[in-house]
Amino acid sequence: MTTSSDRSVKVPDARLIARFVEIVGAENAITDAAEQAPFLREWRDLYVGRTPVIVKPATTEEVSKLLALANAEGVGVVAQGGNTGLVGGQIPCESGREIVLSLTRLRRIRSVDAAGDAMTVEAGTTLAEVQQAARGAGRLFPLSLASEGSATIGGCLATNAGGVAVLAYGTARSLVSGLEVVLADGRVWDGLRALKKDNTGYDLRDLFVGSEGTLGIITAATLRLFPEPEERATAFAALPALDALLPFFQLAEAQAGASLTAFEFMSGDLLAFVTRHIPGTRRPVAGEAPWYALIEVSGRAGQAAALLDGLLADAAERGLVSDAAVASSLQQAADLWRLREAASEAQKGEGGSIKHDVSVPVGRIPEFLVKAGAVVERICPGARPVPFGHFGDGNVHYNVSQPREMERETFLAKWEEMARAVHDVVVSLGGSISAEHGIGRLKREELVRVRSEVEIDLMRRIKTALDPNGILNPGKLVSF
Ligand code: ZN
Repeated sequence: MTTSSDRSVKVPDARLIARFVEIVGAENAITDAAEQAPFLREWRDLYVGRTPVIVKPATTEEVSKLLALANAEGVGVVAQGGNTGLVGGQIPCESGREIVLSLTRLRRIRSVDAAGDAMTVEAGTTLAEVQQAARGAGRLFPLSLASEGSATIGGCLATNAGGVAVLAYGTARSLVSGLEVVLADGRVWDGLRALKKDNTGYDLRDLFVGSEGTLGIITAATLRLFPEPEERATAFAALPALDALLPFFQLAEAQAGASLTAFEFMSGDLLAFVTRHIPGTRRPVAGEAPWYALIEVSGRAGQAAALLDGLLADAAERGLVSDAAVASSLQQAADLWRLREAASEAQKGEGGSIKHDVSVPVGRIPEFLVKAGAVVERICPGARPVPFGHFGDGNVHYNVSQPREMERETFLAKWEEMARAVHDVVVSLGGSISAEHGIGRLKREELVRVRSEVEIDLMRRIKTALDPNGILNPGKLVSF
């Protein structure tokens, strides 16, 4: 398979593997196939890789030594955080010649500066642990994803993760002020600055954020913290038609302004999948609607709930919302969020699913949904689109479940054809083929197809400049 970089990285022999193991200690290296298995399979089962060894360094210095050795010997290195990525970026190729560098032991919280709204954490700290540490200091770290219990902050930054709070706080990129990165040759760049303003030439930090382990390995980050809102009000609203989504979002933006901290959406069919397959979930409102929106308003105590109630009343009057459930306790709010967060998991119960993580300008989401639906029906009649995602970010997870009476493999064999056609719709609307999951292996060829020669050339030049021997995550993101 031509899954790795065309620049050949070499197969490490037993003596070389022993030198990698020596850096972290035998107890922190995994060579047994059964023990390796959970690190080599991504959760959608799209990629299963092989590796001679998984090494688990505990310090930046150990990462530095590992990369210096790999670079000198020409061995490919795949960095991995919580293994929750969705594009295969964290999985080594099938050849078994790349080593895996798991960052989960680098999980110290180095400092929390509540007054300065900053904290410095190591790459393997899980997102949930970061949120908790911020909360412990009376602050908020807003990045939030369904996989936050396992996803690491290093992985979130390496993939510029999005999630459900982007509308108000931006993607991972906008939540980091500084990085510590080990370069391909083992040198360490200490860019852990807690500055809001820093105009000192090329932005090296932004180069590494979203680079998916292909330019350097992030070992620590200085993150931005925010005041914790005093009150959050959450509602799950039923919408009578696709046409109601955009005006409802615009009304919410106009009335809540910066207090609108989430505006998520999902199709009625997808909510039915959730209540069918996810234990403990139930419909939040009676009857069935074609579309649902989950909205959250945050603000001062006593104000957020009133704002949300007013908004829902206004939307109902205008015919934009047919029914809504408003959470009256933290548990109820968590239950409403659970319906949205289980959206991916629920699709597993309906057979094969072809997934697209795309973005278009917010105002064009309804047009995208109509056009993409037509494309899917042409390629696979009877396939069931179940779109959901972050409406306010223009980010649609355009997932398509297989027709009921089709073999899973027959359906999944249509992945490339369907993805190309859906991506063509996205590009025609001025959108992006990867909104928040990244490129990895899944979209490597598509990136080259939809982006200009100039863009691809610049990306390849950056890759060559920072990783001249091609050892960092070979064959991911940029191809040669
Ligand atoms: Zn998402």
